Amino acid sequence: MSASAQPTIYWFRRDLRLQDNPALHWAVARKEPVICVYIHDNQTKNHWSLGEASCWWLHHSLESLHSGLKSAGNRLRLFSGAPEKILTDLAAQTNAKAITWNRRYEPESIELDKHLKALLKEQGLTVNTTPGNLCHEPWQVGRVDRNARYRESAADGMLPYKVFTAYWRASLKQKSIPLTPSVKAIKGVNKIFTGEKKLKELDLLPSLPWADQFSQHWQPGEKSAAGVLQAFCKRQIKEYDTSRDLPALSGTSGLSPHLAFGEITPRQINAVVARKLKNKTLTADENTETFLKEIGWREFAYHLLYHFPHTTDLPLDKRFKKFPWNKPSPEELTRWQQGHTGIPLIDAGMRQLWQTGWMHNRVRMVVGSLLVKNMGYHWLEGARWFWDTLLDADLASNTMGWQWVAGSGADAAPYFRVFNPVRQGERFDPDGEYIRQWVPEIAGLSKKTIHSPWTASETELTEAGIELGKTYPHPVADLKNTRVEALERFAKIKTAQR
Ligand code: FAD
Repeated sequence: MSASAQPTIYWFRRDLRLQDNPALHWAVARKEPVICVYIHDNQTKNHWSLGEASCWWLHHSLESLHSGLKSAGNRLRLFSGAPEKILTDLAAQTNAKAITWNRRYEPESIELDKHLKALLKEQGLTVNTTPGNLCHEPWQVGRVDRNARYRESAADGMLPYKVFTAYWRASLKQKSIPLTPSVKAIKGVNKIFTGEKKLKELDLLPSLPWADQFSQHWQPGEKSAAGVLQAFCKRQIKEYDTSRDLPALSGTSGLSPHLAFGEITPRQINAVVARKLKNKTLTADENTETFLKEIGWREFAYHLLYHFPHTTDLPLDKRFKKFPWNKPSPEELTRWQQGHTGIPLIDAGMRQLWQTGWMHNRVRMVVGSLLVKNMGYHWLEGARWFWDTLLDADLASNTMGWQWVAGSGADAAPYFRVFNPVRQGERFDPDGEYIRQWVPEIAGLSKKTIHSPWTASETELTEAGIELGKTYPHPVADLKNTRVEALERFAKIKTAQR
């Protein structure tokens, strides 16, 4: 670095990519060297700090990002500690005059960003923040508040949507944040800075060998994300509308962990689909439409989290504040977590999650319903377990998903919807293939009884090598009785004041 160089610091967060990266583009356009930084904040600990599975993904994604940066003529500088101290020290050490990052929308990130912005500006740095991993800023889509008396900014006088279809319709009328042009070369600095760490020193890889199996299913990184999207557009998207609900098929994109770490943006996904529609390698039909709508659900989740930040821990619907949840029995909770509930679809889903770090969306809804409605446990018990074990753990989508399951969120499942995991299995896994894959000890049952082994005859059980209560457990809950109890408890909510 020449003595007169005034580098720009680019702070990577949940945007572990070089393409469609507004902040990185801004940094490169300044024509000064760019110092690319990732900070593993191991100081701030709360129950939404990165889960174990996410840490596994992060480790490998950083590795991939570093090699991408090397090809572009730069390198990734890794640090651990509090961002405030690291960034201020680094700015002083490097004579940097500007710093930039892409926005995050989680409540704690917003607070931290506000604080850092003010602090770094005070120290004389230009601070530039750019849109994050969304097509629309969460405040950009809203409905007009007819009662608002005055407006000070574009967002004033706007109310958030709580129903997806209305949000989706309005968002389609809004211009999407444009794609950012590619950066090819990123001028760097040939120097090691105080406090820089090696990837291993961030100590991200879980100590349990449990995470080792993830690499059989996933390859983190920007290149891999682009490949996954291309493969999906060649094949599964063409039958997405029907096959996305069948857990035995890989009928969905598998893009969620890549999206969660910002290795790909929804803007890039939309652009690839639009290009393929234009050159007619894809047809504009219910399949592409449903897929793009699912990306819209992710946007909606961020819209909700931004406007209702308390919902990570508290119900959006206030009537649920005093809901009489059952005190969890550690033994029953463990059976749910480990996939030993004795209810095959639930066990298949929970084991898929444990073994691959991912679970099919339909099964997420069903395992959630069993925990919250039949077992009567607080939805946060489930949200925290997912948080720790999902590779795609995302505060906005996880919060929306669990509040939906509990019936306490926006556009939530009505209180009287208690999924019957047996019926769900029969409907969406009619041959029991998904169950046979993840719960092999009952694979010998017929497709009629595999969803409810307790209905199989003694002869069938013996022939299939099953002894209920020994080789496969009795159900953790009586589905019929607990459903009735749940309906009674949830019905009281209906009459409570909003
Ligand atoms: P695809 O079907 O290929 O969909 C493409 C993308 O659209 C997904 O990658 C995702 O970004 C988005 N999407 C699809 N469905 C939803 C949805 N219902 N809500 C929000 N976005 C959606 N998703 C997460 O990314 N992180 C989470 O932590 C998370 N927790 C969930 C918890 C519960 C209880 C439930 C019911 C759902 C949760 N989801 C979460 C949503 C959904 O299950 C996953 O996004 C989806 O299964 C990811 O698989 P995919 O990439 O193959 O999806």
